[in-house]
Amino acid sequence: MIKFTRSDTEKARKAVSILQAAREGDSGYNKREVNEALIEMFRGKCYICENKDGISSYQIEHLIPHRGNLELKYDWNNLFWSCAHCNNIKNARYEPILDCSQVEVDKKIAFRKEGFFGIQEKFVFTPLENNEETRNTVALLHDAYYGTTPQKKIEATNIRKALRTELSNFKNLIREYEEAEEYDKEDLKCAILREVRDNSAFTAFKRWILWDNKERYKELIDF
Ligand SMILES: [Zn+2]
Repeated sequence: MIKFTRSDTEKARKAVSILQAAREGDSGYNKREVNEALIEMFRGKCYICENKDGISSYQIEHLIPHRGNLELKYDWNNLFWSCAHCNNIKNARYEPILDCSQVEVDKKIAFRKEGFFGIQEKFVFTPLENNEETRNTVALLHDAYYGTTPQKKIEATNIRKALRTELSNFKNLIREYEEAEEYDKEDLKCAILREVRDNSAFTAFKRWILWDNKERYKELIDF
C-alpha cells in the first residue's frame, strides 16, 4: 500500500458531479465515470494488495464503511479502488485504517519478503508507528496476502505468486544495473525508477528492497 494523490483532474471532477447527482435520488455510486476516475487515480491497481494483473475483478471500496450514511456513500474522498478479494476481506472490519490518499503508508509500515519460496518464505508487514490505524492496516494487509477463508487462501496464493515474480524481476533488474558498464547504467536506472513509481505493481515491496539497503543503493535512491 502506497500513497495515491487525489488530483483535481477532468475525470475526478466528472465523478464528483455524477456522485452529487446520484446522491439526490440515492441511485447508486457505481457509475462509469466514477470507475474511470478511480482507475486513473489508483493507476489501475488495488490499493490494498497492489496487484494489477488485469484479470482480477475490481470494485469500488468505501474507506469508511457507509452503512447507509449517504454522506459517506457518495463522498468522492471516501471511494477507493480495490480488487474483489481485498474488498471482500476488508468488508466492514479493520476500522479505522490508514488513508492512503492522505498518508505515505509505506513510510508507516515496512513491506518485506523474508526467506525463499519453499524455504520459510514470509511476507512481513512491520508497523513503524504504534497507533490503531497502522495496526489495523497491518492486520488487513496480512489477511489480504494470506486469505481468511479456504477460498480466500487460494486467491491469496495467486496474489503472492504474482508478487514473488514481480520482486524477482525487480531484483534481477537491480543486479543487472550493478553489473552494467557505465554507458548502460542510465537506461537501467530509468527502468528501476519505473518500477518504484505508483503505477507499478507491488510498489511498496520494491521500494523497501532499496530502503533496506540504503548504503548499497544510495545512488538509485537519490535518483
Ligand atoms: Zn487487492
